[in-house]
Amino acid sequence: MRRGTIPGSSGRVRPMRLLGDRGLAAPCEEVTAFDAELARLVEDMFATMYAASGVGLAANQIGVPLRVFVYDCPDDEDRRHLGHIVNPRLVATDGPVIRGPEGCLSVPGVEAGTPRFDEAVVEGVRLDGSPVTVRGTGFFARCLQHECDHLDGGLYLDHLTGARRWRALRAARRAGLSPAEAGAEAPALDRVG
Ligand SMILES: [Zn+2]
Repeated sequence: MRRGTIPGSSGRVRPMRLLGDRGLAAPCEEVTAFDAELARLVEDMFATMYAASGVGLAANQIGVPLRVFVYDCPDDEDRRHLGHIVNPRLVATDGPVIRGPEGCLSVPGVEAGTPRFDEAVVEGVRLDGSPVTVRGTGFFARCLQHECDHLDGGLYLDHLTGARRWRALRAARRAGLSPAEAGAEAPALDRVG
């Protein structure tokens, strides 16, 4: 992303990896090379996220196993948050845990009420390696937690239990996805926070 350009405008839309893809279930690696290829990856991620009408996208959703995510996401006060984070770490979560609607570009057509902390803080770096701290509340905090989960090999479905989880997995199967491979028995309720 260069100054003065719209993120993603020079990017290439890449195929979305869907539930059942092994790359979604494996932790991503730290970025060590801050080069033109990384800048291209971020551009392609923006282009892919916008093409899919998403508010966030993690690199492993397009098959790249690196710790990078992009976002263009409103919070509950309708403030827009736009950016990318390389090597993000979810360093703090706070506030009440709120169950709200959540979906995923890798699980199209499925949505489920998912418990998330109302506040989240993520630390990482930008494309040029400069440190950045991103704080989110409400829906944007949900997005930050969702994308960090992806980079650890998780999915929002991991946070569902009981009938909600069963219904979401059934909806995924009916949409032609293969939840079994993605770890239908994934534990991970303690992954956030
Ligand atoms: Zn997702």
